[in-house]
Amino acid sequence: RKKHKKMSQFSHHHVKEEMTPEEKKQVFDKIQTERKNLPIYAAREALLKEITQNPALVVVGETGSGKTTQLPQYILENFLQDENTEDRIPTVAITQPRRVAAVSIARRVAEEMGVTLGSKVGYSIRFEDCSDPTDTRLKYMTDGMLLRESQIDPLLSKYTVIILDEAHERTLHTDILFGVIKGIMKKRSDLKLIVMSATLEAKLFSDFFDAAKIVYVSGRQYPVQIYYADEEQLDYVDSCITAALQIHLDESAMSPSVSTGDILVFLTGQEEIESVSKILDERARLLPPECLKLLVCPIFANLPSEKQMEVFDPAPPGCRKVILATNIAETSITINGIRFVIDSGLVKSKAYNPKNGLEILKVCNVSKASARQRSGRAGRESAGKCYRLYPEQSHQGLEDYTVPEILRCNLCSVILQLKSMGIKDIMKFDFMNTPSSSGLIKSLEQLLSLGALDKKGDLTPLGTQMSQFPLDPMYALTLIQSQKMNCVQEVLSVVSMLSVETIFYAPQTKRVEANKNKMKFASKTGDHLTLLRVYQEYQAVKKNSNASELQRWCQEHFINYRSMSKVCEVRQQLKEHLESMNIGLTSCGRDLNQVRRCLCAGFFMNAAVRVPNKRMYKTLVSQLEVRIHPSSVLSDPFPDCLIFNQVIMTSNQYIRDVTAIDSAWLPELAPSVYRGHLLDQTNIMVEEQKKAELAKKEKSKTNAPKTFSVQRSL
Ligand code: ADP
Ligand code: MG
Repeated sequence: RKKHKKMSQFSHHHVKEEMTPEEKKQVFDKIQTERKNLPIYAAREALLKEITQNPALVVVGETGSGKTTQLPQYILENFLQDENTEDRIPTVAITQPRRVAAVSIARRVAEEMGVTLGSKVGYSIRFEDCSDPTDTRLKYMTDGMLLRESQIDPLLSKYTVIILDEAHERTLHTDILFGVIKGIMKKRSDLKLIVMSATLEAKLFSDFFDAAKIVYVSGRQYPVQIYYADEEQLDYVDSCITAALQIHLDESAMSPSVSTGDILVFLTGQEEIESVSKILDERARLLPPECLKLLVCPIFANLPSEKQMEVFDPAPPGCRKVILATNIAETSITINGIRFVIDSGLVKSKAYNPKNGLEILKVCNVSKASARQRSGRAGRESAGKCYRLYPEQSHQGLEDYTVPEILRCNLCSVILQLKSMGIKDIMKFDFMNTPSSSGLIKSLEQLLSLGALDKKGDLTPLGTQMSQFPLDPMYALTLIQSQKMNCVQEVLSVVSMLSVETIFYAPQTKRVEANKNKMKFASKTGDHLTLLRVYQEYQAVKKNSNASELQRWCQEHFINYRSMSKVCEVRQQLKEHLESMNIGLTSCGRDLNQVRRCLCAGFFMNAAVRVPNKRMYKTLVSQLEVRIHPSSVLSDPFPDCLIFNQVIMTSNQYIRDVTAIDSAWLPELAPSVYRGHLLDQTNIMVEEQKKAELAKKEKSKTNAPKTFSVQRSL
């Protein structure tokens, strides 16, 4: 607390609780000046005029020019200037592909407007709504949340203006929203749509919305010197650390008086960011005392939002920040003061194989467009440098653009949502890029197997129930099934634990110790019951101790305290969902087999059997050879049959979050898929073959009338 106070004396940048009223006023005035210095300010009047005159508008502008933070405020200010009828004040929804962006930008905008977050300005992300149904006028939200709202309010009638931001990212939910909102605009002439994008593929968006007008906002960009690694890096995480320290030492680190510029490192996920953060912290302490201090600032979704805001604070004199981020910092959020970018060249993303219906999480190379955006982050305020941790030759081999997510992910979840919105014929939905028909068919088939759709392709009562949960279909199904098996409490805990990226952490220097500790919680049956045990013990400790004791307990047990807090919030929300559906909170007590049976009843599509005499498994439905991820608690003797949550591809194809099941449960709990022939591989192969042929046929007649219904039985 004390340290914080001291820092804020240096950086009059954010309004903080502990400031005096005069200090707050000073900061507020400074922020107003900053706002006027943003490139978009010059276009303010022109933009407002275009918004008034056009139902749909495409706004393109360099990242950091002020689109996301400023434009919504202009709309509000403009209205308040002209008219004074309270009840007609516009309500603006602004979508963001990522939770961190929605929260941190809402926070910033509330500060700029001098209001409390959650009143005039709010945000809404999955499992966390910080907005007021009557008061909030600018609502920053994830694209997934707006899509969910449209499920309940099909005309999105509470919004006067909808801004689809970061459109260039082409996330699955934004892509679906394009089509949904286009439909709404036909019914609501009063609705204004603004599509905002950082790159220049604006024509695509304009064409989709009947030749919507495009407005370009000019930005500022200083030259950025690009450096490539001279050879492929064996361990990019290690290279990132070395590069950061090297830059720190080489770039006037010895003369604290010079304005030095901060470092931004692009990594692939929370786990990696946390481990790099720890190592950099340790190494930074060994730097000579006359050297600039290195402040390590990680940013990722599970960080509490005050912590997330710290990355925006300017480094105090004598310090340099090194920010560790995922591609969140590529275009979604802009952090001032960056002069050096270290780009691993990698991103964690989804890949989908319509043949086997499996979505795989994979660390992939970024596209050239991404690499360009990343390097651009070094040149916003002055000339900068970007270090790409791969050779120039590799760069030439990169894809030009990132493939839109809708073309490389499983579509079950959105199809379920569209169906629940009354869109019967998915093939006729207005997609900006239509997913392959084989991909669509595969997802429809999966929904049929899950019991969410009937053979005509209509939503079943179970499907309707599933669509109401803010969860992927299989997770929703598992929760619903827990009612039958009298283990709602336990499954609720397990599903909540699965909603965060990491529960256990293993600092590099204490791997062995951390692992030993993890095994203390381990269940012989696998990871889900292990997670359940962690949750139960955490709750027991929580009951009898204060926050700092709880935090210490987590630390001692190598458990991520932040993740656990998040889990509790998620669980509370899901619990409310269940209660609103009149699902009672039953418990199976010690009979944990019920929990495993329930997991089997929800994740039966993700079942795998052991390849005889090998440490390898073959997934039954998708026929993929996989290994158990090293993070799993399962060890020798390995079970013959198991279910998993996720496939991750790194050096191998791994399954993550794994639990042993009794193979006899499969035909019992999922007869439509397994029909008692669980181990009859050939039978399954024949079915797969049939389906593939049907898909092919379907594809060859894409120009024929696009009606479709799932009529084949599996
Ligand atoms: P764009 O959407 O065009 O990429 P933004 O509106 O996100 O631009 O950013 C405009 C400016 O607001 C940037 O200079 C950025 O640094 C600043 N900004 C955004 N969020 C914060 C924050 N939380 N704290 C301080 N400055 C911020
Ligand atoms: Mg933006």
